[in-house]
Amino acid sequence: MVNLAQSSPAEGEPLSLPAQIDPRITRLLRETGFIRALKSGFGGPVHLLFPEIFRDTISRFEDVLDQRALHYHLMFAKKANKAESFVQESALAGIGLDAATVEEAANAMANGIRPDHIGISGPAKSDILLALAAQQGFLIALDSPDELDRASFIARRVGRPLRALIRLTPESQEKSRFGIAAARLSLMLDRLDDGIQLEGLSFHLSGYSIPERAEAAFTTARLLLKLRQDFPNCRKLDIGGGLPVSYCRETDWQTFLDREQPGDFHGNKRFSGYYPYHQPHDGPSALAAILDTKPSGQTHSLAALLKETGIELLLEPGRALLDQAGITLFSVQGVKDRGDYGIITADGTSFSLSEQWFDSEFLPDPLLLPARPEAPSPYPASIGGVSCLDSDMLTWRKISFPQKPRRGDILCYPNTAGYQMDSNESEFHGLPLPRKIAVGLNAPDFTWCLDETYCAATAGIDIQG
Ligand SMILES: *Cc1c(COP(=O)(O)O)cnc(C)c1O
Repeated sequence: MVNLAQSSPAEGEPLSLPAQIDPRITRLLRETGFIRALKSGFGGPVHLLFPEIFRDTISRFEDVLDQRALHYHLMFAKKANKAESFVQESALAGIGLDAATVEEAANAMANGIRPDHIGISGPAKSDILLALAAQQGFLIALDSPDELDRASFIARRVGRPLRALIRLTPESQEKSRFGIAAARLSLMLDRLDDGIQLEGLSFHLSGYSIPERAEAAFTTARLLLKLRQDFPNCRKLDIGGGLPVSYCRETDWQTFLDREQPGDFHGNKRFSGYYPYHQPHDGPSALAAILDTKPSGQTHSLAALLKETGIELLLEPGRALLDQAGITLFSVQGVKDRGDYGIITADGTSFSLSEQWFDSEFLPDPLLLPARPEAPSPYPASIGGVSCLDSDMLTWRKISFPQKPRRGDILCYPNTAGYQMDSNESEFHGLPLPRKIAVGLNAPDFTWCLDETYCAATAGIDIQG
């Protein structure tokens, strides 16, 4: 990873938080003609997707699991991004997909995911989704005794048992509204009948503590081994998603946290908290650390336990699979100088950066791609959306741009594929939804196509040749 054209802030310099950017993307951003043509060709903001980076990340996850000789199944948590390209890549790589709605499951099938590779999580599922799951053989994570009864009834009507996991609420997540506490598990086991084929247990943790996740995995694995005596098909352990992404270097993040103050933000804006933008691990290395954890006083790692007992490990990463797999481009529509700093108006809204709607801010510095580069002359500016809401700010923080941004310059938000891009987008003010464009980075010349026409099987390949 490299930091494009920006270095860490020294004492007395404006606050900055340079994003770590994959070198392939850095190379793309230097192709200013290509970037400007794509941006102007589609009007409004555009999201650039990098399916090849997503594909590489899948391989890195698989390497971690293969090196430990585990029996496993990876599923991409679709809610983190709506693009078709990533689902296509998942299907081509042979991994599965975690969905929560009929729409997500149908989209997965349309893009080639095998039905038995589709997992369904989420709270009480709709009747239609439960029926579809029974018909197609999706693996459902049952959330409550009440849902289990309804699922079993529907599956018997459909005439096929429903493949199911039971979702547990880990002890450390007692505030979560999902799953059932292990102590109450018998409430569900007692209701099992021939409508349900129990295949294992699942949990999903928020927060990035590696010991906590390993601990929850051990506890659940032991419970699974006990259940196996009564339910011989019960051999899957689904440890959910929630693997980390590191957006920035540790020193930059620490400096940011130490130095940030109200004056760094437009309107002295304060937030209730921030995503931890630096992490010591990325997704695959966090997974390795979890698998290699040994409980205190024991000699066997989690990986060894899974391998010896033949437990199949299921994982549902969303954000971590999308690390570096997309960026978002806006144009500068105008700049208002307020004397001590500027307010940029971008050609879109903050709905294209979801973090802004969770009483927080997407902090990695946006990059300015100027139409006409000038000699460095730092200019601080915040970035507002084009709507009529005061709260529609893409960046409240006064970013220290290397030169004064001007109408027609491009602003690039890095690493937006995981949750930022599209979960909150709407046609507010009648604006069209921003387009998604899949960009090929590996060929000598960059290639692109609309996300909806992307085909992973032939991307970047000239099949005539
Ligand atoms: C959201 C979610 C995920 C994905 O979480 P990430 O933090 O994006 O990895 C996986 N499983 C379940 C059940 C979820 O709700």
